[in-house]
Amino acid sequence: KGILIAIDGPSGSGKSTVAKAIAVRLGITYLDTGAMYRALTWFCLEQGIDLDKTELVRQQADSLDFSMTHDPHSPRFFAGDIDITAEIRTPRVAERVAEVARNLSVRSWMATEQRRVMTQARESGHGMIAEGRDITTVVCPDADVRVLLLADEKERLRRRTYELYGSDAPQYLKATAKQIGERDRSDATVSDFFEAAEGVSVIDSTGKSIEDVVDEIVAMTRS
Ligand code: C5P
Repeated sequence: KGILIAIDGPSGSGKSTVAKAIAVRLGITYLDTGAMYRALTWFCLEQGIDLDKTELVRQQADSLDFSMTHDPHSPRFFAGDIDITAEIRTPRVAERVAEVARNLSVRSWMATEQRRVMTQARESGHGMIAEGRDITTVVCPDADVRVLLLADEKERLRRRTYELYGSDAPQYLKATAKQIGERDRSDATVSDFFEAAEGVSVIDSTGKSIEDVVDEIVAMTRS
């Protein structure tokens, strides 16, 4: 059977970079669960759906016809045959995704779908690393390795802003701080991803290189 690795953490903790590098290193598949929440948010905004209408939002998950690739070199996301990989990273989506992520019917739909994908990866022998906010606790508490990745707020902000704006980052630090702060506060009302559940290893990546964190987690798969 394939190995399952679960990584949770707040935005900017480095979890997606680390998760992709581990997937490449171990030759396993990759699941970005945040992208699923982003895709549904994008779709609702496209359809002009009021995000407060919780059941209506949840129903859009059935119409979205979402699919994704699990290749860690270049994960891609689709609605039907439209490639929405770039759309789901825009500020338009980032600013609204927390509203969709607070919706408990949506969360239950997502968890079921994510569990299905992970179980398939385990059964097929391919193995998978999944990252998000509730993978170690709700989606896959029986993963072989479970890690909560943290980093101090300043470092998270710096990483996220450079990821979004490249060399223009310095001028966007303030706006990103506001966006991330709001999203963290909203996300924390749903899952407490700053506290590790029992059996989950905490890694603080502040001041550590990606390589160091990857090595640390890969070592856990061997013990
Ligand atoms: O990880 P990323 O920043 O792409 O996630 C986008 C948003 O999706 C998060 O801010 C959070 O609101 C939501 N999310 C979640 N549970 C997950 C993954 C993401 O609520 N497992």
